[in-house]
Order: sequence, then C-alpha cells, then structure tokens
Amino acid sequence: MNRKSFLNSLALIPLAGAAMNLNELTKLTDPLNSTELMPVLFVGHGSPMNAIEDNEFSRFWKEIGKSLPKPRAILVVSAHWETRGTMVTAMEKPQTIHDFGGFPQELFNVQYPAPGSPMFATETKNTITKTQVGLDDKWGLDHGAWSILKHLYPKADVPVVQLSLDYLQKPQYHFDLAKELAALRRKGILILGSGNIVHNLRMVAWDKISEPEFGFDWAIEANTKIKTLIQAGDIDSLINYTSLGKAVNLAVPSPEHFLPLLYTLALQKKNEKLSFFNDKAVMGSLTMTSLKIG
Ligand code: ZN
Repeated sequence: MNRKSFLNSLALIPLAGAAMNLNELTKLTDPLNSTELMPVLFVGHGSPMNAIEDNEFSRFWKEIGKSLPKPRAILVVSAHWETRGTMVTAMEKPQTIHDFGGFPQELFNVQYPAPGSPMFATETKNTITKTQVGLDDKWGLDHGAWSILKHLYPKADVPVVQLSLDYLQKPQYHFDLAKELAALRRKGILILGSGNIVHNLRMVAWDKISEPEFGFDWAIEANTKIKTLIQAGDIDSLINYTSLGKAVNLAVPSPEHFLPLLYTLALQKKNEKLSFFNDKAVMGSLTMTSLKIG
C-alpha cells in the first residue's frame, strides 16, 4: 500500500461506521498487531526419516498442523543449531540444510522452501533483552525444523525463523531467555521447540530397530520422570535435570535436544492447558514425546 492509498483508506474509516475504534485502527496499521494467544509446541523430532515417512508420528504432525490457528510466522528453537551467543535467522529465503549423513538420497532431495522473515527476526531480536541477539544470514532451516514443518505446513507458506541455542549457557539462562519470547505468542507467532526428551544416539538398539516402540528401561523411566515433573510444574527440577539420577543422565547425555523443551515450558502461562502427544519410545534410546501448550 503506498502512502496515498493508505491515507485514502484512513479517510474511509469514518464511513465504515462508528464501530471502528482505536484498537481496530491499530490492526489496520500495524502488521504485528495483537492476536489470540498462539499455542506453543515441543516436538520430539527423532530420525530425519520422519520427514519423508508416513508413520504414526508424522501423521500426528499433519493433524496438529490442521488443528492450529494459522500463524503469521513460526519461530523454531532446534537442537541442531548451536552457536556462540544467540542468533536468529534473518534472511528472506532460508536454505534447506541437510545436516546429517548416511541417509537415502530421497531425504537429501527434500526442499522446504518456506520464506524467512527479516521483520519477525528483528521483532524477535528486539523482544529479547537478556542478551544481544545477532541477525544471521548464513544458516537456514535445519532438519530439526523442516522435518517437522514439512508435515505441519506442507505448503511451506508460513515464514520460518530459527533461534539458535547458545552452547556456552546453562539451562537456567535458556529458560529465562525463553520467558522473554512470551509476547510473541500474541503476535501470531507459533513457537516450536524441536528436540527429544530422551536422546542417546550412542545407545540406539540397532538389533531391535524394527521393533516398534522399543525403549530401554532407563529410557522409559527417564521419560516418565520428566513427564511427571512437567505435569507437576516442577520447573526447578527440570532446569536442574543433571541431578535427576542415572536414568535421566543416560537419557540426556548432552543438553541440545533437551533445551528446546525448556524453551517451550518457559512459555506456559499459569494453569494453561498442556497435553502430550506422540508419547512413545523408538530405537531403544529415544522418545518422541511431544507436548502442546494452549
Ligand atoms: Zn535431532
């Protein structure tokens, strides 16, 4: 809209009737006007093959995509983008990154051509006061983002921005930083944490790979313990997950797949509804357990 037609549209406002109030005027003029509170997701992404497989997990992702209000943009916190300091992707056209090896060519052929959004990237940067957030023009969408989004929004018509994990920081820092993102939920932005609650690739049960839903005892124990703490709202214990005992230490041998869960939980309002989905173990040492807030 150019300046002249914009002014013309304002001139039409009184004709639209007395019902037009300041709030509605703001909606006309501010692309980041307030919306209903958007839900927040944590999705266990598991194997990159979920991007191209039609299985119970990917089918549920499709269902979730249909059930959510269509966001203006998606902000993904993926386990697969760790940086020194916090970065946000700010390019117009993020590339599809195939950040894995040893998978079929079909998976390398996948493209997820969703646009980026320099505007939402800047909005995200400005929302965070805890640290100086850098605008990135080199990353794109890693498989933590696109393997899920390909099912959630198959048309790739919603702009996607990624927020990195600062690998120098402790869990409490990530949780506090995530809390600052709460305002984005009222700006039509879907925030998606992508990781896995139980994720130990060294202990994958290769001999039971074809056995559906197989989880080692410690994997089931850790998953149950973490779910129980989530349901109890015991955030302090979750932040201090390294003190939760042997099973959880095996389940979370490194922080990057667990931290996106803390980003999601930090955005839950008091008494806000939380539900689990895809709550199953795979390959012995992973769980696909996911949750939706709101
Ligand atoms: Zn992963």
